[in-house]
Amino acid sequence: MCIFCEIIAGNIPGKKIYEDEEFLAILDISQTTKGHTLVMPKKHYENFLEMPADEFGRLMETVQKTAAKVVENMHANGCNILINTNEIAGQTVMHAHVHIIPRYDEYDTVGFMFKPNELDLDAIQKQINQD
Ligand code: 5GP
Ligand code: ZN
Repeated sequence: MCIFCEIIAGNIPGKKIYEDEEFLAILDISQTTKGHTLVMPKKHYENFLEMPADEFGRLMETVQKTAAKVVENMHANGCNILINTNEIAGQTVMHAHVHIIPRYDEYDTVGFMFKPNELDLDAIQKQINQD
C-alpha cells in the first residue's frame, strides 16, 4: 500500500481537514506554508491523468471548498493550487493529490519561476493538436 493509502486506511495518522466517501484532505507534513493541505481521492490512482473525468471533477469541487475554508480560516491572502504529475514534475507520492498552498505575503517560502523561451508557437500548437 502507498503512504496515502495507509493514511486513508487509518494505519498512519493524518491531520484531517475534510473527509467524505470519496475524498480526504489532510495537512501536508511539510507545511510549505501554514495550512498547506493535500486533497486526494480515497481510491488509488498514480496521478490525476489516471482518474475518470467525473471523479476528477468532484475532486476539484472538493479542492475549491477546502481551499476556501483554508484561506478564510488561516487568514491567508490567496493560495496556489498545484498538481505535480510524475517524477520530472516533482511528484514524490504516486497517489493522485492536489496541493492547496495558502499564500500570506511575498516573503513566504514558495516560489515558481516562469522563464520565457523563444519557441515556435505554431509548431507547438500543431504538435499538441495532432490526432
Ligand atoms: P508531491 O511532491 O508528490 O506532489 O507531494 C507529496 C507531498 O506529500 C509532499 O509535500 C510531502 O510533504 C507530503 N507527504 C509525504 N509523506 C507524508 C505523510 O506521511 N503525511 C503527510 N501528511 N504528508 C506527507
Ligand atoms: Zn495510494
